[in-house]
Amino acid sequence: MPAPTCSSCHAARAALRRPRSGQALCGSCFCAAFEAEVLHTVLAGRLLPPGAVVAVGASGGKDSTVLAHVLRELAPRLGITLHLVAVDEGIGGYRDAALEAVSSQAARWELPLTIVAYADLFGGWTMDAVARSTAGSGRSRSCCTFCGVLRRRALEEGARLVGATHIVTGHNADDMAETVLMNFLRGDAGRLARGGGLGSAGEGCALPRCRPLQFASQKEVVLYAHFRRLRYFSEECVYAPEAFRGHARDLLKRLEAARPSAVLDLVHSAERLALAPAARPPPPGTCSRCGALASHTLCQACALLDGLNRGLPRLAIGKGRRVLQAKPPLAGNPSQAIGDPVALQGPCTCEQSRDGASPCRDGGDCAGATCVVPSDLSATE
Ligand code: SF4
Repeated sequence: MPAPTCSSCHAARAALRRPRSGQALCGSCFCAAFEAEVLHTVLAGRLLPPGAVVAVGASGGKDSTVLAHVLRELAPRLGITLHLVAVDEGIGGYRDAALEAVSSQAARWELPLTIVAYADLFGGWTMDAVARSTAGSGRSRSCCTFCGVLRRRALEEGARLVGATHIVTGHNADDMAETVLMNFLRGDAGRLARGGGLGSAGEGCALPRCRPLQFASQKEVVLYAHFRRLRYFSEECVYAPEAFRGHARDLLKRLEAARPSAVLDLVHSAERLALAPAARPPPPGTCSRCGALASHTLCQACALLDGLNRGLPRLAIGKGRRVLQAKPPLAGNPSQAIGDPVALQGPCTCEQSRDGASPCRDGGDCAGATCVVPSDLSATE
């Protein structure tokens, strides 16, 4: 049976049916519709004002490649300038090839590119070094927790370096729905309430950040890249199979098979969620070390680096992080600063084990004053 005619231009043969609407379009009309929808997202959300210098988080993958290409097309109409910022996490055998893809995109599109590296920003720590440090305790699945926090900080630093006023990232609707699911599965109400919307307006000293592809499905991102003949890097990170996100992705795929609108429904649900006043966390303060927004003494990035530098990476996450930062110095020994590992010795306070030596029934490790269970270790994947 011959392909139907494009329902937009009524001239060319349709090359696809849009996954959500079922509309039959030719490649050229689909790409025009995709770009118009991203433009609408940016304008309706007032995400990028005229004159903005926009740092595009570029990884070489499909999402950031499509985002950079679409914004480059829209830049004259939006009155913005673009600067690609790539982060080198220091993942051998993976990131080097991805950065080559970003470099060739920047050259092809004549966009400036700046690469910032974890090793330079974080006192020599690379993701491979973090993985070695956390794997020592059998916790390789916590890599993405560290990487997510550090990459956010690195992108912020890179954006400041190039004089950007705004940051955009390539998260699509599927990514957002996975994040919503993960937060539900962890019972993380605070993140659920913060995760809605199109980004953050730039509280404190942080730059405004947004996700113009937030309502674009992953399938359409791939289709756009196909019809625009965009080349991107598609290898999976070596640490990705361990991430909790993979479980949320599998679950979402099954949900979507039963209910095609599940992805967008989840994204919109998160937008409408609001915490009851009694459940709202106190307004964030500033990190005592770097001045970034923080809900504890240290921001997430400084707390993770602190844990790594002390040789206690597990204690920088979840309950352990609260202990590291909130435990007061032992009486009579003022030289023990808050978070000093010595201050953590003592009986475990978890329900399962109180001897501070044997693992609790949840499979956690009792590390002194509290028990760090696996669920703590995936707080930010
Ligand atoms: Fe970082 Fe995890 Fe992504 Fe790899 S999969 S780049 S470790 S967040």
